[in-house]
Amino acid sequence: MKKIIAMGLFLVLAAGCMLFPRERGTLCLTFDDRNWPRWEAALPLFAQYGAHASFFPNGNLDEAALSSLRKIADAGHTVGPHTQGHADAPPYFEKHGAEMYWERQVKPQMEALAKVGIHPKSMAYPNNRRTDETDAFLKTKGFRRFRAGYPGVRPYDPKGEKKESLRPLAEVDEVFLPVDQVGSTAWMRGVGIGESYNTDMNDILAALDRAAARNELIVFFSHNIAPNAKSINMKTEWLERILAHAHALGMRIVGFDELD
Ligand SMILES: [Zn+2]
Repeated sequence: MKKIIAMGLFLVLAAGCMLFPRERGTLCLTFDDRNWPRWEAALPLFAQYGAHASFFPNGNLDEAALSSLRKIADAGHTVGPHTQGHADAPPYFEKHGAEMYWERQVKPQMEALAKVGIHPKSMAYPNNRRTDETDAFLKTKGFRRFRAGYPGVRPYDPKGEKKESLRPLAEVDEVFLPVDQVGSTAWMRGVGIGESYNTDMNDILAALDRAAARNELIVFFSHNIAPNAKSINMKTEWLERILAHAHALGMRIVGFDELD
């Protein structure tokens, strides 16, 4: 009898696992600005953990830049524009119109990237500034996802004056997006990583624990990747800890273009 009950229990559990596979959250790391040499140098570190990220260069993309970005895309990462002039979208839309933003700020980068076979579906807004109108317009140009930020959650704060008011990241509910809502979400909000955003590694790792336990998506943004990087940049040693922790938790670590 005991054997039959044990067998029955086993079958119920096995069926449950098949019906409800355990998903362990998603981590999206994003990197902005003109830092492709160091992004390229970090590719083996991402590969070590089977991880992909999203990279958003701004400004003119010459042959050297495009060669780096092609290698980054070839390694499975997402690459997209961050605009030609690092121009904040909402005031630009207001002053010059949406079409001009596309023509002058986004299209030149799209054309440059197309030369090396990169056709972006994701972009990062300069200074994280966006509106529903800017998203809606840029969707008509073929974009699927837009990286922006969370005002106030981890503000740019190089003097540490806002440090006291910060809540532990794992308690800031708006930072976490249930994975089943990712498909219907274009606005990807990121939390800044860097000394100037008051980054505390234990705080970040605890946020990953929460995302994994509740099967949520969390997005971060940073800029350069270098050993003991300062200011708004990612320390290589931080990146390694984040990747190792997320990997050990069984999280998906993917670029935006892999979310669908
Ligand atoms: Zn930027």
